[in-house]
Amino acid sequence: MQQLSKENLEKLIQCEDVTTANYAELVSWVRNEPGIAQFAPDGICRTDPRNQRMTIYNAARSKRPHDNRSSAPPSQEASAKPCPICDGNTTRPIDVAPLTAGFTFINKNMFPCFYNADDVVDGPITPNEVLPINAGKPVGNHYLQWTSSIHAHDWFNMDVSDLVVVVNRLAAFEKHLLRASAQSMPSTRQWYGAADAYGFVLMMKNYGAQVGGSLVHGHQQITHSNVMSKSAYENWQFKKRHGLTFSRHMQQATPESLQLLDLKEVSVAVPYFMRRPMGAMLFVKDDSKTLLADLSDAECRSLVEGVSRMVRTYHRLMPAMGRDVAYNILFHTGPGAGIYVEFLPYTQETGGMEQLGLWVCQDTPEGSAAVLREYLGSE
Ligand SMILES: [Zn+2]
Repeated sequence: MQQLSKENLEKLIQCEDVTTANYAELVSWVRNEPGIAQFAPDGICRTDPRNQRMTIYNAARSKRPHDNRSSAPPSQEASAKPCPICDGNTTRPIDVAPLTAGFTFINKNMFPCFYNADDVVDGPITPNEVLPINAGKPVGNHYLQWTSSIHAHDWFNMDVSDLVVVVNRLAAFEKHLLRASAQSMPSTRQWYGAADAYGFVLMMKNYGAQVGGSLVHGHQQITHSNVMSKSAYENWQFKKRHGLTFSRHMQQATPESLQLLDLKEVSVAVPYFMRRPMGAMLFVKDDSKTLLADLSDAECRSLVEGVSRMVRTYHRLMPAMGRDVAYNILFHTGPGAGIYVEFLPYTQETGGMEQLGLWVCQDTPEGSAAVLREYLGSE
């Protein structure tokens, strides 16, 4: 079985429980990791004044060995090339937890979108009407959570109890980054409110080369930086404008015809504004939670069950649609979100019309919901 063996993992371990490390230690571990500095981002953040969409620049990322293929990439599952993770050619783990078989662990991204090159941090940098070209220098760190040390294991084939361990470690890391970084990151209490927080955390999963999943070994990405993403800003703005979280709004506005799953603590539905076929969202019913760590054990288990059922569905459905299995999963936490998870399967390309802000979708939300319900029921 292709995997990062326990012996090789133990040789690499820097820390077994990241919540025992202080932020200065974490930062020094990233700085001292050989190789990361040469792929550091350019430290520039620019905002489109028309719509406040932000771009950060990292020219060095184009040198990633497993990126920029000249031809169409093979499907992620079919690829059997040597894996740098299984071979131990990766950065040192800062958090490790055992699973039924193998381990889940967190380490540093060798090709970071954010880097801690400076001690002095600007910000926070937020996507509002800031007109100067450079609103501040983006600073932070970029980590990877490997779902399992076993190469073939990921969300689509792992047991719920093991995936609960994975999400619990993600939750502990999110909270620790926000709480432990007071000396290094700007206060973001103005947005997080009662939850004392420093900097912003983003969490997502890319599966498949077409959607940015440049490594085949299954993983989640975590960034912690002084930059507020557009989506975090939009969630916060939504609550300010409408007096309720986006999650609450969706739970109230979604008609029966778009509901997919009701799992006690969470529900899953196709959004009524679906932009691409088979898109879906999972909502934690109690929208008062801000961080993953705020979820009760029952809520966390329901969330994991919902995500894994949707992921397994995409792995059966997308090949039947004649598509490679490829999707993004966005974990929306933080102010104004309520907690929700967004599923963006890569079922249709993006054209010029979409770049003009008008999405032309090859299926209706109701049509996609009917197909997704059929596949969900066929397990
Ligand atoms: Zn591997």
